[in-house]
Amino acid sequence: MADNPVIVAGAGVGGLSAALALAAAGRYVIVLERAPALAEFGAGLQLAANATRRLARWGALDRLQEMATAPEAVDLRAARDGAVIATVPVGESQTRWGSVYLVAHRADLLTSLTETAAASPRIEIRLGCSLEGWHADEAGVRVHIEGRPDLTGAALIGADGLRSRVRESLALTAPDGPRYSGRTSWRALLPAGRVPAAMLAPRSNLWLGSGAHLVHYPLRKASVLNLVAVVEDEWTDLDAPDFWASHGNAAFLASRFQGWSEEIRGLISAAPEWRRWPLYERKAVRTWAHGRVAILGDAAHAMAPFLAQGAAQAIEDADALGLAFAAHPRDEAAALDAYQRARVPRANRVQRASRLQGFVYHLSGPAAFVRDTTMRAIGPEGMAKASDWIYRE
Ligand SMILES: Cc1cc2nc3c(=O)[nH]c(=O)nc-3n(C[C@H](O)[C@H](O)[C@H](O)COP(=O)(O)OP(=O)(O)OC[C@H]3O[C@@H](n4cnc5c(N)ncnc54)[C@H](O)[C@@H]3O)c2cc1C
Repeated sequence: MADNPVIVAGAGVGGLSAALALAAAGRYVIVLERAPALAEFGAGLQLAANATRRLARWGALDRLQEMATAPEAVDLRAARDGAVIATVPVGESQTRWGSVYLVAHRADLLTSLTETAAASPRIEIRLGCSLEGWHADEAGVRVHIEGRPDLTGAALIGADGLRSRVRESLALTAPDGPRYSGRTSWRALLPAGRVPAAMLAPRSNLWLGSGAHLVHYPLRKASVLNLVAVVEDEWTDLDAPDFWASHGNAAFLASRFQGWSEEIRGLISAAPEWRRWPLYERKAVRTWAHGRVAILGDAAHAMAPFLAQGAAQAIEDADALGLAFAAHPRDEAAALDAYQRARVPRANRVQRASRLQGFVYHLSGPAAFVRDTTMRAIGPEGMAKASDWIYRE
């Protein structure tokens, strides 16, 4: 590995994408990941054209497409009887938004990013390396790694997720930990044999009810159904480090979906196990970089998942980072400044829109009636148009 690499903390979707984009810009990159192995955590992710277009540019899309599903449409349904309220024709994504719309298991996306990175002589991934702190000055950055010698480089990118150490020590704002949104997300993977065949069709389904919504779509060549239920809920264990893997009590969830259609109640009772995942956000900040250090992905803009843009925005960040380094090949601070100017307004806008979408999804009574009537009236073209600003980017 050549001298003066860019150091990336975190080998999640954001960190691996950043490595690919920086390597494409001619930089050497060392990615530090605190986990000892890149494990199979997570469930389904939706990847719209703004994400897949960039994955294609880095050579990671072909691998992903072998494992991912391209839904024909997203159907929005009424909780009580499953009636279709509206349809978003995401099957037309290539022609309308310039790249495919996919759903994939998070682990499959990580695999395709890791394999693409492994094929690059410019990228090195070091597992079991937890960033403890860093020091930056005009000459470079020195990164402290738990139990290992320090590492020096030209710049540090904090792609270290929701509880980012890099964000914390950049002190971009008054101390502001992750903010619990008042909702938990319950996730299950159902083997195809436990699911009605119609639900394995290549469509994504979004059911809207009062104070809750539920999403399901088939994954991995329809061998499993990905099921995500979001409910208003209390969460007390805010500091659990493995909060995404916490087991959920199926009886509690069933009680929340009591008034829903029989199909949904059947799905909920068929799930072999539930993971209950509290949804957090981070306050939007206008500064993501200082000198040779910057943040990216959830570290910069952890958002509510209601537009399914968490991973896609991290991928957009990475792309902008690569372009900024290509434009400023000998000046890392200038590159990081260009990166934040390119990204902050858009990511903050998507973050705001995601929060609003969550509010709209959970409406009840007359407000829900108005929402449904409006969606029916605008039809598939209007629904697709509403996403143009996100997916066309
Ligand atoms: C385990 C897990 C499961 C998820 N499952 C889903 C899902 O099913 N569906 C969905 O839509 N979204 C899921 N997400 C969220 C989604 O992946 C992110 O919103 C999005 O991809 C942005 O990714 P990121 O790379 O910014 O952050 P993350 O995906 O959180 O990645 C951050 C990485 O940094 C590492 N890290 C943290 N601190 C340090 C440190 N000090 N030193 C070195 N490395 C460090 C973490 O181990 C992690 O690998 C999940 C996130 C996680 C962590």
